[in-house]
Amino acid sequence: MRHRLLAAAVMSTLAMPAFAAGPADAGLALQCGKLFDSRSGKLLGAHTVVVRNGKVAEVLAGRAETVADATAIDLADRTCMAGWTDLHVHLDGESSPQSYSEGFRLDPVDFAYRSVGYAEKTLLAGFTSVRDLGGDITLKLRDAINAGVLKGPRIWAAGTAIASTGGHGDPTNGYNTHLSHLMGPPGPTEGVINSVDDARQAVRQRYKDGSDVIKITATGGVLSYAKSGDAPQFTVEEVKAIVEIAKDYGYRVAAHAHGEEGMYRAVAGGVTSIEHGTYMSERVMALMKQKGTWYVPTLYAGRFVADKARIDGYFPDIVRPKAARIGAQIQDTAAKAYRSGVRIAFGTDMGVGPHGDNAREFQYMVEAGIPAAYTLQAATILAAQVLGVDDQGVVEAGKRADIIAMPGDPLADIGNTMKVDFVMKDGVVYRTPQR
Ligand SMILES: [Zn+2]
Repeated sequence: MRHRLLAAAVMSTLAMPAFAAGPADAGLALQCGKLFDSRSGKLLGAHTVVVRNGKVAEVLAGRAETVADATAIDLADRTCMAGWTDLHVHLDGESSPQSYSEGFRLDPVDFAYRSVGYAEKTLLAGFTSVRDLGGDITLKLRDAINAGVLKGPRIWAAGTAIASTGGHGDPTNGYNTHLSHLMGPPGPTEGVINSVDDARQAVRQRYKDGSDVIKITATGGVLSYAKSGDAPQFTVEEVKAIVEIAKDYGYRVAAHAHGEEGMYRAVAGGVTSIEHGTYMSERVMALMKQKGTWYVPTLYAGRFVADKARIDGYFPDIVRPKAARIGAQIQDTAAKAYRSGVRIAFGTDMGVGPHGDNAREFQYMVEAGIPAAYTLQAATILAAQVLGVDDQGVVEAGKRADIIAMPGDPLADIGNTMKVDFVMKDGVVYRTPQR
């Protein structure tokens, strides 16, 4: 019965009008007024992108009025580019003053219902892929999207994040002592480790759970019910053990980090990306450049929590001072890291802020002094490198037909990235401009 109810809810979402053009293998010719080439970072003139069987079949210079066995879609007044990837989202929720108590009142299925709308908003904003860095229900959300049951981005899901006792990700933080002791200490299955052996077990458990990527919390966090957002939470041996076992399964490791020492240990331990990176020092930047570690700044989240910290009662008292400090600091760090030559890729930490607003990160990156063209590469070809795939992030023959379009020139005005009104994922059109 519960399954039948879920199916009914799903069908009503699918009945919405955004689901436009025909089946993936019918053949479509997108007549793009301009095309952003994410490989060169250049904005090109008119191109016609022919899509067949979910892939880009051909990219023709100029506007082809007719293409054999393909239906034309007129995007003459639009800029086309590869669909974007947000490398840091949490589709299982959206933060609010109620977040700290909802975990006690709501069931996983309540969060799952909400995630249906979040996934759809994310896709329709132009994000055809996301890396979801923490949240159990997202594993199943991913499966439902892949099965065509729900509309949403392609998801690389971490499942449960890996932390240490009391760390950012310990699911019992903030419980009263009685409740916390009654439940007993969480272990590797719940994502809490305290030794190298635990670290190995936690990664293998993620494999068993069906994760696509490993997320660790290398330092404290802003929104967790704990005093320090900065303290290191793993030894370098623990990080190395996680990275080593992750490699056995072809996993990459993303490390949440605010404080300097924990961040340094994560980079030294071999993680693929540093998330947030708030107090990144010259020492950390130098090591990141040496090891090719990526930086995903999540400027949106920094600004969002700093704004909310001004509102009385929005955050618990233990969280508020951490949230107040972080916004300006991350923006400043991103500027320094870009100037110093650290490789930056795109991520928002949505779920802290409202899903669907992801593209505002482009504007914040530009405000940090990062060139507009680079920010678009950070969300396309560079994001694909962070994921470790080479079949997306560029509009070229043979690649996945993930294509989005927006009015205007996003290089001249980055605000145009908020106006995406054409979205195709794997050759299926999910959104077309209202004429
Ligand atoms: Zn996050």
